[in-house]
Amino acid sequence: MEHFRKLGIIKPILKSIEDEKFEKPTEIQEKAIPLILAGQDVIAEAATGSGKTLAFASGIIEKTEKGKGIQTLVLTPTRELAQQVATAVSDFARYKPLKLVAVFGGVSINPQIEQLRTADVVIGTPGRILDHIGRRTLNLGRVNTLVLDEADRMLDMGFIDDVKKIVRECPLERQTLLFSATISADVARLARKYMKEPVKVAAETYVDPKKLTQVYYDVPDKSKFSLLVHLLEHEKAGLVMVFCNTRKNTDFVANNLKAVGINAMAIHGGLTQDRRDRVMKQFHSQKAYVLVCTDVAARGLDIPGVSHIYNYDIPKYSKDYIHRIGRTARAGKEGIAINILASRDYDSFRGVMKLKDVTITEERLPDVKKVGIRWKERPKTFRPRPGTYRR
Ligand code: AMP
Repeated sequence: MEHFRKLGIIKPILKSIEDEKFEKPTEIQEKAIPLILAGQDVIAEAATGSGKTLAFASGIIEKTEKGKGIQTLVLTPTRELAQQVATAVSDFARYKPLKLVAVFGGVSINPQIEQLRTADVVIGTPGRILDHIGRRTLNLGRVNTLVLDEADRMLDMGFIDDVKKIVRECPLERQTLLFSATISADVARLARKYMKEPVKVAAETYVDPKKLTQVYYDVPDKSKFSLLVHLLEHEKAGLVMVFCNTRKNTDFVANNLKAVGINAMAIHGGLTQDRRDRVMKQFHSQKAYVLVCTDVAARGLDIPGVSHIYNYDIPKYSKDYIHRIGRTARAGKEGIAINILASRDYDSFRGVMKLKDVTITEERLPDVKKVGIRWKERPKTFRPRPGTYRR
């Protein structure tokens, strides 16, 4: 506990850290917490799994007082991350109870309106936050700490204008903390515009390259699915994530895996909130062990115990590859990333191979039994306009 005390963390949080049995601070906690507690604006280059939530929670919990209005706003790109951050912050605030309210779309707005009346800390996604501001059910006039979590993803998802509008609703006199796995030019621009002399810190991702094996198989297009089934059946695995580039492929792969008796579930942005919650519950309780997902849906989810990452589609943007592999080989555990590429992935794969510190070796194709594929009806979801590419 001494390590955490030295960072200046207040007693009630130290007690909850003790409950969590954390032995020592992670790199990002070590670097960011003293700055955050000193009231500095901080840009932290840190991915999910780095321990970033405790880093900003230690500042929020210290500063926020119960019953004095909304003093903290945390913006997250996805509903899942909003829920996850809310749970983590309330765990760390166990001995200094604060009223935390998670606010995101896809669920009824009325209970949120009621809860917001007495909230101390609000954690939410940009769309629903703006909705509340428009209805005058959320007033940010007393916010003294603004956290932009997963800022790069928030911008990738097209939330830039929403984020700007929300930031302008907060008082100028405030502390702004920005967490992002990568600091792109857009993220840097956002920081320049809305932060005051921010201090930059960075931490290596939690992924230990020595513990992560990365391989690829080069297969004919029509054999991709058969190879996936073969590997899932023959590789001894814990939890498995299979990444696809589109919602359509995600449904296709999950449905066909189920058809051959593999316990798979799909998660992507087209599902209702209720459905996404149920999928995550099943995966967390390990009732389903294969989660087929898009980058956006997987982003920010903290799922311990993922042993295998399959790239059924190679990501178009190489930085998504880094996010994907960051889901495994965490906290000292072994992990493997398996890329299944066909000719349509070659361009994207060339981009991935150029990434710094990424070494992917080719595996020989095993003898694979041909698996029949069914094109099932997609579950009813919001249908994008023709020609739009949704993840
Ligand atoms: P985060 O990056 O905030 O999503 O945290 C990732 C995971 O690391 C969460 O399950 C945390 O509970 C855990 N964690 C955070 N800080 C520490 C620490 N100092 N030691 C061990 N685990 C930690």
